[in-house]
Formats: sequence, C-alpha cells, structure tokens
Amino acid sequence: MAQMRKTQKDRGARARELDGYAKIDQYNPDAIKRIAGSYRDILKDIGEDPEREGLVKTPERVAKALQFLTHGNDLDPAAILRSAMFKEEYQQMVIVKDIEIYSLCEHHMLPFFGKAHVAYIPNGYIVGLSKIPRVVDAFARRLQVQERLTVEIRNCIQDTLKPLGVAVVIEAQHLCMIMRGVQKQHSIATTSAFTGEFQQDRTRAEFIRLVSKRGD
Ligand SMILES: [Zn+2]
Repeated sequence: MAQMRKTQKDRGARARELDGYAKIDQYNPDAIKRIAGSYRDILKDIGEDPEREGLVKTPERVAKALQFLTHGNDLDPAAILRSAMFKEEYQQMVIVKDIEIYSLCEHHMLPFFGKAHVAYIPNGYIVGLSKIPRVVDAFARRLQVQERLTVEIRNCIQDTLKPLGVAVVIEAQHLCMIMRGVQKQHSIATTSAFTGEFQQDRTRAEFIRLVSKRGD
C-alpha cells in the first residue's frame, strides 16, 4: 500500500516536472523489473523457453515497450492545451486532420491505429496547432477503447478551451479484429463526438466535407 501511494505520488511529480507533455523516454526501473518477470512466466506458459537466445532480453524489451505505449497515463492533456492558449478573435472553424493515432485496445492489449480529425470553433481563445496532436497522443498512449478515446479528446478541448464547438472523428483498424476472430482485414471503425455548433447539421456537414477531401 505504502509502495502504491509512493508510486502515485511519483507519477504526479513526474507529470508536473514534464509540464504535461514532454515525451517520456526514461523508464521506471522497478516496474520494468516486475513486468519483465511476469513476461518470463508468460513465455513459459505459452510453451517457450525464456532462456533461449532470441528471448533472453525479450521480457525487458516488452516491459519498456509497454511503458512507452502507456505513457499517456503520466501526461496531463489539459495542461498541454493550457501551455499554448492565446487570446484571439478568430471565430472560424479550425481543423487539424489526419493525425496519426496508435493506441492499445484495453480488451486484448493489441494495437489499434488510424487517423483522428479534430476541429473547434474558437470563442476568444485559440491553441497552438501542434498541441492538438499532442492531446490526441496523450489520450491514445493508454489502454483505450476507440469510443472513449474520441470522447476524452472532445471533452478535454471543450472543457479547457471553452470553444463554440468541438468535433472529433477517429477512423481506426483494430488488430484484435484483423488478426483474430472475425478477420475482417479491411474493416475500419469510425467514431465521432461533437459539441456546441457541431451539433448543427450544417456545421457538422462542413467539417465532414473538409476532412473527407483528399489529395491536397
Ligand atoms: Zn480488442
């Protein structure tokens, strides 16, 4: 228990230190050791020999990969936005489209990946454009479901920037669908979430038209 409390405290301190968004490339050595130990057992349980040459370092590699792929847990997406908000009278739609996303589905811990399209209509404040993909990444680098990822991005922008509306569309392929089970090789799941002015058909249609345009 004391251990757990300490870890949570460390996390908060680390998030503050990183000002919400610096990429984490140092690892927590204690967690790496524990995760690697578990993966050694998993290798045995699937009939492998964890001591054979190709696998000797695999548990540590997997542990580090997992820490990287979930480092969004240590980030504060709202702080990312707050770090670059500017007063501005611009009140037209701002769109950042084709943002690459890589996430892990929380049901199988297999990747899902694709593109996110995000738009907002400012209401007194705009945000540095590069922050939008960072917010997407901060939520994607966790165990997720696509539906929640979509809504979390929308809510974070809505609550922090308080714009006239937010639109988020995510199109993604899920390896848990493609590699196993139904094996629908090319199926893409699309999720969307809207607030404010994007709930009006005309505004939403304009957004969809603009993000659907290809080959600029
Ligand atoms: Zn899955």
